[in-house]
Amino acid sequence: MDDNRNQHQLPKRVVVCGGGIVGVSTAYFLAKKGAAVTLIERSSIAGAASGKAGGFLARHMCDGGPLSSLAHASFNLHRSLAEELDGSRSYGYRPLTAVTVSVKETESPSKSPVLPPWVDGGVESGEIIGTTETTAQIHPRLFTRALLTKAVAEYGVRVVIGKVESVAVEGEGVVVKVEKGGDVGGDAVVLALGPWTSKLPELSSRFRVYGKKVHSVVLEPKDDGDVITPHALFATYYPTHGASPIDPEVYPRPTGEVYICGPSVEAEIPDGPDLVFPDRESTQLLKKVAGMISSRLKEGNVRTKTEQACYMPCTDDELPIMGVVPGMKQCYVASGHGCWGILFGPATGAAMAELVLDGHSSIIDLNCFSPARFLRA
Ligand SMILES: Cc1cc2nc3c(=O)[nH]c(=O)nc-3n(C[C@H](O)[C@H](O)[C@H](O)COP(=O)(O)OP(=O)(O)OC[C@H]3O[C@@H](n4cnc5c(N)ncnc54)[C@H](O)[C@@H]3O)c2cc1C
Repeated sequence: MDDNRNQHQLPKRVVVCGGGIVGVSTAYFLAKKGAAVTLIERSSIAGAASGKAGGFLARHMCDGGPLSSLAHASFNLHRSLAEELDGSRSYGYRPLTAVTVSVKETESPSKSPVLPPWVDGGVESGEIIGTTETTAQIHPRLFTRALLTKAVAEYGVRVVIGKVESVAVEGEGVVVKVEKGGDVGGDAVVLALGPWTSKLPELSSRFRVYGKKVHSVVLEPKDDGDVITPHALFATYYPTHGASPIDPEVYPRPTGEVYICGPSVEAEIPDGPDLVFPDRESTQLLKKVAGMISSRLKEGNVRTKTEQACYMPCTDDELPIMGVVPGMKQCYVASGHGCWGILFGPATGAAMAELVLDGHSSIIDLNCFSPARFLRA
């Protein structure tokens, strides 16, 4: 370790661009390791997918592939962060059971013991795919903001609100140009811009991160929310008239609210998170399916708290991109976490902090996530 430190010029001032879960986790672990960190976010902290996601965490669902160790490390890190940040109280961390269900217009109510009593609609029972040992949930916006609050209060992270326009390597350091905000200099920069990563001119020619638009709704049952037990439902809804099935996901939260999202569609990303709007037809469909699953979620028995949309950051080989940007010394990227960015956020942050400050990551092997793989291809 010490030899390695001597070989690398240690960056001390690090600029992190992007205030989603990936940028905030990276800022947190960098600052905890002693770096002077400036985080730059153009809109609001966790204002994009990191605030509008489901918040479902699974240790085992990536097993057997290159994402397995990232999933295991991050699931465990979420558990220890929940203790450190009092997560069950402050951001709804809790273990839960995950079950699959089929939803059909013609189905009669299921009597399966696998399903909790509040799932009393026209569904066919499926199977348990996660237990309280292997699956958990958080409220992603509350988590991201709680982590940043601690990073600011205890480790001195500085937050700048402004749009990053460009990044340049100058000598041994970097200069980040912020719209109407001047330049922010540092020894290194980490670009965690989610689906906007390829909008930065310096990155667009090197690899592609694109967006898939996903809708979600948050429903508040008018009845006692305690009836809705901690069961995540992975539904497949089969519409009548031959339309393609869709796969909505249903996540009850400890507050009694129920979050439902799906499906995802590749779409052009607007200039910033504040310009992302939901289509009414898509949110209406989610509400309809929720009502088919449970009488407690039927129109009339719920208040619609939120109808929203956001973009998942995706890559061509479905793996995140984490590492040094080829040809740009001291410029790092952490993006493209697809449908698992809330799970992967903490381990990504811890690994990126080690990479930037120590020259390598011990928590996970970053080799298969390196941006250089696109050059090789
Ligand atoms: C509907 C939905 C449900 C999901 N559910 C889950 C789930 O249950 N579990 C799970 O693990 N994952 C889930 N995901 C995936 C997860 O939400 C994402 O992978 C993750 O949030 C990506 O985080 P990020 O920080 O990379 O990007 P983002 O959250 O998009 O953050 C990027 C940030 O960068 C900022 N930015 C962009 N450009 C600039 C610029 N030029 N200057 C300054 N700032 C800039 C943006 O404003 C934004 O705040 C879900 C995704 C969706 C869409």
